[in-house]
Amino acid sequence: MRFLFKTFGWLLLGAIGFLGYTFGLSQFPRQGPSLGIDQIADGIATTYVFMLKTGKCVLVDVGLDPTGRPILDYLEKRGLRASDVQAIFLTHAHTDHIGGIEAFPGVSVFALRQEVSLLEKKSEDRNPLRQIVGQAHTPLVHVTFPLEDQQTVQIEDLSITAYSLPGHTPGSAVYLAQGVLLMGDTIGIGWGGRVRPPVWLFSTDMREARASMGIFLDHIRPRMGEVRVIAASHSGSIDAVRGFAALERYVSNGGW
Ligand SMILES: [Zn+2]
Repeated sequence: MRFLFKTFGWLLLGAIGFLGYTFGLSQFPRQGPSLGIDQIADGIATTYVFMLKTGKCVLVDVGLDPTGRPILDYLEKRGLRASDVQAIFLTHAHTDHIGGIEAFPGVSVFALRQEVSLLEKKSEDRNPLRQIVGQAHTPLVHVTFPLEDQQTVQIEDLSITAYSLPGHTPGSAVYLAQGVLLMGDTIGIGWGGRVRPPVWLFSTDMREARASMGIFLDHIRPRMGEVRVIAASHSGSIDAVRGFAALERYVSNGGW
C-alpha cells in the first residue's frame, strides 16, 4: 500500500514538473516588472542578489543545485567568490531554496526562528507531498542568526527586514529590502497579475497560510509605500500597488 502511495506521489510530482515546464515555470527572466536586483535561475528555483557598496553581496535563497553551480558561475562572472557572499537569508527550508547551501561554508545564514528546526532537521516537513513520498534529501542548514518577525538586519549598507508568514512552512519568511518584497513560496503570481495562495501540495497548513496573510499585511502596512515590486520565487513579480490590492482583497473576502 505504501508503495502505491509513493508511486502515485512520484507520478503526481512528475506531472506537475511537466506541466510547470510546459507552461513556463522554468522561463527566465520570469514574468512581471523588473526587481532592479539580479536574479539567478536554477531550473524552477530563484536566488536573489543584493549587491553591496563594497562590491560583495547578500543572497536570498540558494537554489536547487547541491553544488551551487549556477550561483558560483554568476559570482565568477563578476570576479567574486563564494566567500564574498556576506550573508544568506533563507525564505524557508524547501530543497529548491536551500539546495546550494554547502557551497557557502562559513557564510552567515539568517532564517526565521520558527523555521530553524526544519532547517536543522530536528523536525519533519508535514506537507501533503512529504506525507505521501517521504522526506526530501535536503542539506543540513546551520542557522547562524535566527530572526524574529519584523526584525531588521543591517549588512554593510543593506537594510533587510524579515516578516513572518507561516503556513507554507512553519517559519516561512518574506524579506523587504531596496523596495523589493520577496515573498518566497507564500504566494504565487498567475497570468495577468493574479495573486494565488501557496500550492496546497507543498504547504504545511493552508488554514494558517490564510490566517497569517492578514497579520502580515497589518505588520507591513506602515512600509507599503516603500515597496516597488512584489516577487514570488517561482512565478515572477507584480507591481506593489496591484499586488497589495490583491492581497488586501483576499483577506477581506476571507480567502482566495
Ligand atoms: Zn516551498
